[in-house]
Amino acid sequence: MPAYEAVIGLEIHVRLNTESKLFCSCPVSFGAAPNEQVCEVCSGMPGALPRLNGKAVELAVRAGLALNCAVNAYSLFSRKNYFYPDLPDGFQTSQFVPPVCEKGFLDIKVKGRNRRIGITRVHLENDAGKCLHLGGATLVDLNRAGTPLIEIVSEPDMRSAGEAAEFMRRIHALLVAIEVTDGNMEEGSLRCDVNVSLRPPGAGSLGTRSETKNLNSFRHVQRAADYEIARQRACLEDGGAVLQETRLFDAETQETHAMRSKEDAHDYRYFPNPDLPPILIDPERIEEWRRTMPELPGPRAARFAADYGLPDEDAELLAADRDTADYFETAASLCGNPRRTAALMRGELLRECAAAGVKAGEAHLTPPLLAELVRLIDGGALNVRIAHEIFPELFASGVSPERFAAERNLVQLSDSDALEAVVDRVLSEYPAEIAGYRGGKTRLLSFFVGKVMAGTGGKANPAVVNGLLRAKLDAAPGPQV
Ligand code: ADP
Ligand code: MG
Ligand code: ZN
Repeated sequence: MPAYEAVIGLEIHVRLNTESKLFCSCPVSFGAAPNEQVCEVCSGMPGALPRLNGKAVELAVRAGLALNCAVNAYSLFSRKNYFYPDLPDGFQTSQFVPPVCEKGFLDIKVKGRNRRIGITRVHLENDAGKCLHLGGATLVDLNRAGTPLIEIVSEPDMRSAGEAAEFMRRIHALLVAIEVTDGNMEEGSLRCDVNVSLRPPGAGSLGTRSETKNLNSFRHVQRAADYEIARQRACLEDGGAVLQETRLFDAETQETHAMRSKEDAHDYRYFPNPDLPPILIDPERIEEWRRTMPELPGPRAARFAADYGLPDEDAELLAADRDTADYFETAASLCGNPRRTAALMRGELLRECAAAGVKAGEAHLTPPLLAELVRLIDGGALNVRIAHEIFPELFASGVSPERFAAERNLVQLSDSDALEAVVDRVLSEYPAEIAGYRGGKTRLLSFFVGKVMAGTGGKANPAVVNGLLRAKLDAAPGPQV
């Protein structure tokens, strides 16, 4: 059986966080009634002239900087010619050579292995409109036409579907962290084309690729790549040849289907757009953007580990997106216990957030409330097990943890006198176990702790109970012979 190595490269389209479109002042917003946000420029009227949105250039450069690219002080817009009903100009205004940024990389980690994925280029382009298929008719909505995008093209450096999905996840987190995009995947703010080919392991040249278009979730990227790897392997093992083609992923069946054979770059008849002057960026501007970059997830994770003493895994998880990281830093500074804050976020908060489909920053349980919960535990008023038990209710309601614990009568019993009475009662009920303990079966201590905890409805402070029990059990005379 011949063995094959998978080779994967991604093209990721990212909607930029601008208020207006790339070449006109129509607003960019999702969900307006069809064709309400359209003018003569973005509907391709003859003679209408484009005017470049400077904010889009800034965001493209910031993305390039975050991806370790070289920024070109001189770049060009070109026309990429093809016909679609929802492409009113008859061409897409994109960049060919030179693009605004190129030659970068992004480091990812998959299954404990560090991988450096090359970034070929980052270029600016405008989005197309949308076709709506309604009752046998096809209607065109141009609200999206002219929306500013960047396309990030990777080198064919990924070797598994898992690496492809992780690469896209990192790109998403990075670009959301630096506010280049809102990252809303359901609204199509990040869409990915997955290119897959197979070759004998370590071969010098690349095999023929298929390109699966427009994947809008990490899971779909993974599934589509896995499907293509399996499909191409079966095809090659059968003695067949892989065709260079464009495919579509069907989320229902989790399969890809051929859409059309794929064009090569020369088929698009790229040429510089005569309506747009070159983009010239002052190098001082580039340096200013570099200086004012928000903290990226990688360095932020390193800082969390170093400054707050978090385990690497917690630091990476909490720094992965800006919303979670900001939540953590606010709560940790309010309560002064970053490690417990991190543990509660990792174990409880993020799980509840995922189940409810909200970001940490949107939770009813705000950073000050989580800080209050941490202080209750640290101060001995609430034991950790009960804190975990009531967490879903705190999360759902957003009430003060202190008030909640008081109203439900959950405040931990740490008072030795009150607990001593329970301890004495338990000891009087189990003379045989006491003898066993004193005879050397010291593991029976946890049996007594359990009985005392049960006797207080779980509210006793376990450390105090342990201390009391040990004092009483160990103080007695040693084993009788
Ligand atoms: P196009 O727009 O025609 O698809 P691009 O150059 O923009 O061309 O993108 C090509 C993408 O496909 C890049 O991400 C590149 O890494 C990847 N790629 C190119 N050749 C192969 C191959 N043989 N196998 C897998 N990926 C490939
Ligand atoms: Mg492509
Ligand atoms: Zn417009």
